[in-house]
Amino acid sequence: MIAYDLTCDNAHRFEVWFRSSDDYTGQLERALLMCPHCGSETVRKAPMAPAVPTKGNSRSAGTPPQKLLEKSEGGKLPEKIKSAMIALAKAQAETIKDSTWVGKNFAQQSREMHYGEREDALIHGRASKEEVQGLVEEGVGIAPLLVPVVPPEEAN
Ligand SMILES: [Zn+2]
Repeated sequence: MIAYDLTCDNAHRFEVWFRSSDDYTGQLERALLMCPHCGSETVRKAPMAPAVPTKGNSRSAGTPPQKLLEKSEGGKLPEKIKSAMIALAKAQAETIKDSTWVGKNFAQQSREMHYGEREDALIHGRASKEEVQGLVEEGVGIAPLLVPVVPPEEAN
């Protein structure tokens, strides 16, 4: 038996026991793994050391704007654009401060809120082009993030 720390796209961490590493790979490939906290099927092995500070809930405080810039642009922007980008990133960080990262559940949760099946809340996450198009057609209020956001599970 072998224990793996797994993490889902909502940054939950949980431990699962497998017969072997092949058993893990097999279950992953057949999408048999699911997060016990939120039911997400997007799970993967967690980094050995916890990279995401858990402060009692799943809300992300966000990554400092400067860090986002370095990651996405490699620091090769002209000063003027760079400072504008930083201002933009700061404004966005302020906006999503009280927002919850929901990863790929964004489209589903936005839709549920729109139709009153879920309590309204501030969320941000990922959606495919098709999902965004569908949401817009249904009149669900969404807005694009102006600056790339590092998902909690990828922020090291
Ligand atoms: Zn989860």
